[in-house]
Amino acid sequence: MTFTDNVLNADGALIVGAGLAGLFCALKLAPRPVTVISPVPLGNGASSAWAQGGVAAAVGPGDTSHAHAVDTEIAGAGIVDEDEAESVTAEAAARIEDLARWGTPFDRDELGHYVLSKEAAHSRNRVVRVEGDRAGYAIMQAIIAEVRKTPSIRIVEGLTVVDLARADGRIIGVYARKLGDRYAEPVLIRARATVLAAGGLGGLYAVTTNPSGVRGHAMGMAARAGALIADPEFVQFHPTAIATGADPAPLATEALRGEGAILVNDLGERFMPAIHPDAELAPRDIVARANYRQIKAGRKVFLDTREAIGARILTAFPTVAKYCTDFGIDPVTQLIPVTPAAHYHMGGVKVEANGRSSLPGLWAAGECSSTGLHGANRLASNSLLEAVVYGARIAADISGLEPLRSPLAPFPGIGWDPVEGEAVEERLRNHISVKELRRTMTDLVGVERNATDLRTALRRIAEIEATAQGVTRSFLNMTTSATLVAAGALQREESRGGHFRTDFPEPRPEWEHHTEMTLEDALAIRAGA
Ligand SMILES: Cc1cc2nc3c(=O)[nH]c(=O)nc-3n(C[C@H](O)[C@H](O)[C@H](O)COP(=O)(O)OP(=O)(O)OC[C@H]3O[C@@H](n4cnc5c(N)ncnc54)[C@H](O)[C@@H]3O)c2cc1C
Repeated sequence: MTFTDNVLNADGALIVGAGLAGLFCALKLAPRPVTVISPVPLGNGASSAWAQGGVAAAVGPGDTSHAHAVDTEIAGAGIVDEDEAESVTAEAAARIEDLARWGTPFDRDELGHYVLSKEAAHSRNRVVRVEGDRAGYAIMQAIIAEVRKTPSIRIVEGLTVVDLARADGRIIGVYARKLGDRYAEPVLIRARATVLAAGGLGGLYAVTTNPSGVRGHAMGMAARAGALIADPEFVQFHPTAIATGADPAPLATEALRGEGAILVNDLGERFMPAIHPDAELAPRDIVARANYRQIKAGRKVFLDTREAIGARILTAFPTVAKYCTDFGIDPVTQLIPVTPAAHYHMGGVKVEANGRSSLPGLWAAGECSSTGLHGANRLASNSLLEAVVYGARIAADISGLEPLRSPLAPFPGIGWDPVEGEAVEERLRNHISVKELRRTMTDLVGVERNATDLRTALRRIAEIEATAQGVTRSFLNMTTSATLVAAGALQREESRGGHFRTDFPEPRPEWEHHTEMTLEDALAIRAGA
């Protein structure tokens, strides 16, 4: 058997994506056989490994999961599903224990209690962390080590999934191609259960904190297969990506503001206290818009950590400190230039409480899904939590459907060259059409939106899709996701959470609900733009 055979069998479950959602689900499925597809070597290419803050969980003294749920609902601006918020926050402590048992070295005090950070819109310190700002990296290292010692998990590196495979009204697996081999006919990999865990869509924007492979492929391929999509318009922009011109833009975690860092402009003015009583710790969308407006008015924005954190930044926030020094900024003595950047997608493939999508045979977990937990705006550090809670729920659901089967049958070697493959993908990622698409999203579907811009964006996306040369299914997945975001944003004539319309600047009661949309609906809106 070779990878060029037309049909391969995954046996058991197939997980698309090797971030925290995918790998956690794989571990929870053990000893049931599962194949996990990762385009790049494990640990690379996933937002999960870049998370700085940590995981939100009510594990501190005096805290309750209900208080966590209430904060989640307030941040979500009226459209968080209450049951979801209560149940996810109630499962948080058990999932943190799983992560700790699998080796995550969470920061603890001398009595062994978790050291908890405070992030925006949390009513108390509630974020478990590792070495200050290294949570994502440390969690992924621990999980990957556990995955590697679990015989029921087969990791296949070097494949990119381009389509879901559908037959008789069910998802029966995926079509995948070798990384860097865009002209090869994708191979069908059959599976009894397919779990989409291929991340969000920040990279659809020209300014983003997401890894360069995370560009809306997951939601795009699910929508093209007919899945129902929820809340596509709700994109969270992080207020403080470090503005060095690097793509992606490195993040300066919110925990810095939690420790007292302030925002100032190039005139030395601190502008947040006049905008919100919580100043720099106001909800993310408010801080992002304040920074955006400063920049639009010709100012530059900086994060000033000098007084509040000083030299401690080097040890308490080593990741941020390294990003700064890599770009010639001394964070102990200098201001850190920052900009809003596309960071997190609240919307995605609509799933039920057990992670099932609207398509039989397809589950979705992590950032590519929309569970109803985040509403219009994600509460900080609730996304890693959602990834592990849903990873576990999906594993339980799939396990309940299938009897335990024999070990995995052999799977062919992919025969790929990571360096060459990545170089080809990098060229594709910088293709002129991709650049145009990303620029369109940042300029016209960004922090502030209006009907004229959104209509222009939809027409432009259609044009880019129609005229791009050598359009691949991967690119179609991107334009599909872009269409869904812009169509949802045009349709929602109000402002709520991460979605701000300058022509409808207030929330409207008739819009206090989720958006549900198929690709067909979005294309109809695009055709009328
Ligand atoms: C810089 C940064 C900091 C963050 N900090 C925090 C934080 O402190 N706390 C928090 O809760 N959240 C944080 N987030 C958000 C959080 O990291 C993500 O929402 C979460 O990690 C998503 O996990 P995931 O498993 O769904 O996706 P990811 O971790 O992004 O993994 C996606 C996987 O899918 C793979 N993939 C992509 N496309 C394909 C394809 N076509 N075929 C096959 N595989 C594919 C990728 O290679 C990757 O393996 C942060 C995000 C960023 C970018």
